[in-house]
Amino acid sequence: MQITLPCAQCGRPAAAFTVHAAGEGDGLWRDHDRIERAGFMGVVIKFGSLESLAQLFETLRRHDYETLRRLDADFIAFHCWECGKDYCEQCWRIGPPEFDDGFYDCTMGICPAGHEQMVDD
Ligand SMILES: [Zn+2]
Ligand SMILES: [Zn+2]
Repeated sequence: MQITLPCAQCGRPAAAFTVHAAGEGDGLWRDHDRIERAGFMGVVIKFGSLESLAQLFETLRRHDYETLRRLDADFIAFHCWECGKDYCEQCWRIGPPEFDDGFYDCTMGICPAGHEQMVDD
């Protein structure tokens, strides 16, 4: 199961999501059911039961951002909540990593319309 969400500004992929069942693919997480987000701020992996991952995937496909926000707002950080649009990493102006007491805290980004939002936590 794979879905790519396009950037509302330039049409390039904003992020691609793939659901892998345990045993599929390669790498460290091979033995776990998981969903991978690629193309935005590196690769982010989220684990869960296949059922809950399939549900998350369906929600992405329906562009049901209100539900996604409740499930895991950080997972769709490429979506500007003020614009209600998806933007790719090139269209967000992504700032430097911010540190709190020497520990990585978060990264802020500014969307093409000038809204500032956390893009990585
Ligand atoms: Zn915006
Ligand atoms: Zn773009």
